Amino acid sequence: MWFQSILLSSLFMMGDRVRTQIPVYVFAPNPILSSGSIYVESIRDNGDDMSEELRSEMMQVEIDVVIEDDAVYLSDSILHLVNLSSPNEGVDGFQRGNIRADRSLSSFESVNCIYHIRRFQSYLRSLGFGHLIKPIRIDPKALGGSDHSRYNSAKDPPTIEFGVGGVDDAEDAQVVIHEYMHAMLNEALAADRKNSAAISFEEAVCDHFCLRYSEEITGKTDDRVFSWDGHNEFWDGYTVRWHDLEIADPTCDETCQREKWLFLLRKLEGNLPSDLLDRSLLIFFSSQSIGTSHEQIAKQFAAHIESGLQLVLRPILIQHGFLKPETEGQIRKLYANGDVLHLKDLELFEAADLLHINGSPIQRLELDGSPFLPLPIDKTGHYLLRLTNETQFPKKEEWYYLIVF
Ligand SMILES: [Zn+2]
Repeated sequence: MWFQSILLSSLFMMGDRVRTQIPVYVFAPNPILSSGSIYVESIRDNGDDMSEELRSEMMQVEIDVVIEDDAVYLSDSILHLVNLSSPNEGVDGFQRGNIRADRSLSSFESVNCIYHIRRFQSYLRSLGFGHLIKPIRIDPKALGGSDHSRYNSAKDPPTIEFGVGGVDDAEDAQVVIHEYMHAMLNEALAADRKNSAAISFEEAVCDHFCLRYSEEITGKTDDRVFSWDGHNEFWDGYTVRWHDLEIADPTCDETCQREKWLFLLRKLEGNLPSDLLDRSLLIFFSSQSIGTSHEQIAKQFAAHIESGLQLVLRPILIQHGFLKPETEGQIRKLYANGDVLHLKDLELFEAADLLHINGSPIQRLELDGSPFLPLPIDKTGHYLLRLTNETQFPKKEEWYYLIVF
């Protein structure tokens, strides 16, 4: 093994430039999630200071670098670390001794964001979307003292600036992945989509990918988006949460719309393999321009998911206030008086899945050719019914609203 690495290193020697790997320390994805903690005194930002608790949450990883004249460069042909806005500090080309397990060193934000973006790029390549990875300039310490970050597609190459207010944004991998996901979606989508509904939808998709990335590292789910940079004394962050408002309701503000979409995406993850949903979201952005209202986006998204993944989404979207009830006409209704459904067509199917209106299953019922189906329901109300015949070719599947009165 050792001779192989010497051979590889020598292959990449260019004058006195050497491409190699070095050990560095990062948060993975941030100290709140890795420790399973909430924002307490010992995990405070505290002006970039170290604490024993923060040190114990640092993880050693290997990172690709170029060493030239004793300076360590983290940039590569795609990710260019540059100073775009204040603080006007060096963001690349650090002395070797300046890359240690210490977040108070000026190199830390650069190391942390480059590591996580490269790791996330591997995931995007594994999904088949490596073509979206294009050169980008990144300032890990930017935007003065403000506590936000921004992606800018108008620059060439595009830029990401991570603010240093509150918890430095580049230290929380959830912020890093969220911002980088904007760059990916911008590459994916050919048409302009800068209307408020499309922006809220895009924000939710970026939140979804940052939560997916966090879960992949920790093996646990957590509903907090930006769980270290936000959810603290500086800023509330976002949360996967249900808002009991239609998305077109004027009182459903930007946070409500974004969190509703995020709630829906996370809910879909329960019904689909995660990588299938992620791939489907990227194809959705690649294949069409996004509508100008939440309802248009919801219709396009439902059509895309339903045709690609054989998952009936429309009833769930109506129930959650993404589509107006008139869309309900597209799904047939059945009425059951009491606990028995009478339907002549039942003889065409071999099984019936009874679901709550939010899509969660109640019971699978085998059909015996009788037009009467006893329903294991003790409450009147709205349900979903999925009738299937898998022995038939092609397989037969029909969805109904079931109204029990
Ligand atoms: Zn964003």
